[in-house]
Amino acid sequence: MPAAQFINKLEVQIDPQLILAVHGYNEKRKPGQAIRDMVEQAAKEAHNLVDPRALYQEFAVQQLTADSVILDGGMRFSTGRQISSFWQGSKTLGVALYTIGDRLEKQVSELISEGKHTEALNLDIAGTVALGVVGFRVQYYACERLAKHDLETGPWLNPGYLDWPLTDQRLIFNLIPAASIDVRLNDQCMMIPRKSVTVCAGIGVGQRLDGFNRCMHCGVSKCPYRRLTATK
Ligand code: SF4
Repeated sequence: MPAAQFINKLEVQIDPQLILAVHGYNEKRKPGQAIRDMVEQAAKEAHNLVDPRALYQEFAVQQLTADSVILDGGMRFSTGRQISSFWQGSKTLGVALYTIGDRLEKQVSELISEGKHTEALNLDIAGTVALGVVGFRVQYYACERLAKHDLETGPWLNPGYLDWPLTDQRLIFNLIPAASIDVRLNDQCMMIPRKSVTVCAGIGVGQRLDGFNRCMHCGVSKCPYRRLTATK
């Protein structure tokens, strides 16, 4: 089993347009200058607060059933039928964990305690946008490595998505050295720092799913972050 790779030099640019998109602004509904200024300020502040860290590791797949992934050694992820179908043909499971650290969320709490709710909201959204940028870089890192071996990567998905129970986060945290990037899991299977993400992808899939958009298959209909994928 290859060792975990620590991904350094994660440069994070936060595009204020993406914060505006989460608020529902677009070409037809443009924000005023005051809102633009506030959002730009949030993006700058977030840039100073993020502390991106990531790790990536691959695990051999023993068997991919109709609704689960079983790793060598017997660990079983109950992914559900849809995710299992996206990953059909996989010989390996890529697992990534990334975070922007806890400084931004501490500042959000501080702003809330001062009654600055709009600033807190914008900073929180900017943090989520930053986390998305880190995720993109991590996935790019893995896909680039795998493409050199002509290996196709399936969609990057995680416990809590579709039918995959959130409790399978515990299995992921048993597999990878999460503590080495200062991320832990609480009893409710939520990650600390809060702005942290795990994702997995089947590697060596037998089908191309170019342009896969996880929001299209997601049942969280009122999620404001759905608008981010609409801007791409
Ligand atoms: S709709 Fe929201 S919760 Fe669902 S996948 Fe997209 S960003 Fe995630």
